[in-house]
Amino acid sequence: MKAQPRASHFIDGAYVEDADGAAIDILYPATGETIARVHAATPAIMERALESARAAQADWAARRPVERGRILSRAAQILRERNRELSELETLDTGKPLQETLVADAASGAEALEYFAGLAPAITGETIPLGGDFAYTIREPLGVCVGIGAWNYPTQIACWKAAPALATGNAMVFKPSELTPLCTLRLAECLVEAGLPAGLFNVVQGAGAVGGALVSDPRVAKVSLTGSVPTGQKVYASAAEGIRGVTMELGGKSPLVIFDDADLEDAVGGALLGNFYSAGQVCTNGTRVFVQRGVLERFLDRAAARTEAMVMGDPMDEATHIGPVISAEQMEIVLGYIESGRAEGARLVTGGGRAEGFGAGFYVRPTIFADVADEMTIAREEIFGPVMSVLAFDDEDEVVARANALPYGLAAGVFTRDLARAHRMVARLQAGTCWINSYNLTPLEMPFGGAKLSGVGRENGHAAIEHYTQIKAVHVGMGPVDAPY
Ligand code: NAD
Repeated sequence: MKAQPRASHFIDGAYVEDADGAAIDILYPATGETIARVHAATPAIMERALESARAAQADWAARRPVERGRILSRAAQILRERNRELSELETLDTGKPLQETLVADAASGAEALEYFAGLAPAITGETIPLGGDFAYTIREPLGVCVGIGAWNYPTQIACWKAAPALATGNAMVFKPSELTPLCTLRLAECLVEAGLPAGLFNVVQGAGAVGGALVSDPRVAKVSLTGSVPTGQKVYASAAEGIRGVTMELGGKSPLVIFDDADLEDAVGGALLGNFYSAGQVCTNGTRVFVQRGVLERFLDRAAARTEAMVMGDPMDEATHIGPVISAEQMEIVLGYIESGRAEGARLVTGGGRAEGFGAGFYVRPTIFADVADEMTIAREEIFGPVMSVLAFDDEDEVVARANALPYGLAAGVFTRDLARAHRMVARLQAGTCWINSYNLTPLEMPFGGAKLSGVGRENGHAAIEHYTQIKAVHVGMGPVDAPY
């Protein structure tokens, strides 16, 4: 099997196997062939992972932050040096085109490590004068954190969680998606090679049951999940039992609003990136594209023409724009939504079904629906595949109300040349991440996360530090203790 890892898990600085765990076959989505087999973590594996993380954390927290940062910077450098190899593995694991994995996965992971490596020494407390007495605060790590990933950006998700956690003195036990377990193991190798002490970043495999067991372990102080809303609800509820902190990066159905004064080619480009990148499997995708009526037909013509010119093919060919979706199951889900769009009266502009000529690969044609109404299933539910819904609108108040009508609030975008309107719109849109005249760019410096059902907490930027540390406040008495008894 061409991508078989040395073992299923990475614990306490080394690969570990336990074949008693249920076997999980890993398929290459472009062909359907089995490329690796891992085993789900048994209770014994989880115990080893949690215990080694617990044992390693205190020493790590006691080190100078510059020293932690230096190790993370070295890991970033190793990821960059191995970018091609890691990208090829990520492509095998996810089916995403190499054109994307070369720039968006290990590269983004390296940036996260660099960013938090640099930030770590700058994290300080404050001094609070109390007129003689005073108080000060210390930002302390939380302890053992659990990270749980989705299958669309395995390396990026692991790094976005591990980098701030480790930089601030925590240990992490990470469970990748059972569909994409491979690259996180390589990340663990790179971290150890960079000098990260054993036990601080452990990887265990498995599906929901393994994730659930980790979340409820009493040694765990915090859980960061990237996944769907229903999973988020379960994990959040379980974490609440132990009053554990959470970061929840969940799903969405984000609006992208295009006004008639927008640069149309830019707006089309934003809409295509925001619907078809990674074959549409991006949480922040602007899958409800609201287009002002005056430019609607021109938008549809250009969007269809540019979509039909996209190269769908072998993900390992760097010319390929669109690869398969992650699994046969996901392909069936997406095809079901395409059928529902047709059945509920949306107008198919382009695409509309499984792509032929790719054997057993899970390829879905990039699909655009026009005349989509707010009540249609494709306008209400997250599809997580290459399906764009275009909805017409007339004015600002109307589009804000419609954009905010769903219970999600992950992201939103606005294309317009009227900057006052752009900022006015952003102020009214209920979303954690907004783009003006761009879409889906997530630089490390910018906080990232959702509002409403789409999540709590933020990754990236200074904001992430708050989610991996807690404040200890210390009162210092400078005079005699004034006791009335
Ligand atoms: P999912 O919710 O099915 O699974 C996510 C992870 O949670 C997996 O590792 C899974 O094994 C684990 N899990 C499942 N049940 C669990 C439980 N009861 N306890 C603990 N862990 C459990 O999501 P997915 O299908 O892997 O990914 C797609 C979803 O992720 C989409 O909804 C997408 O929008 C979302 N997503 C969000 C972001 C973000 O940053 N907001 C990024 C990527 C993906």
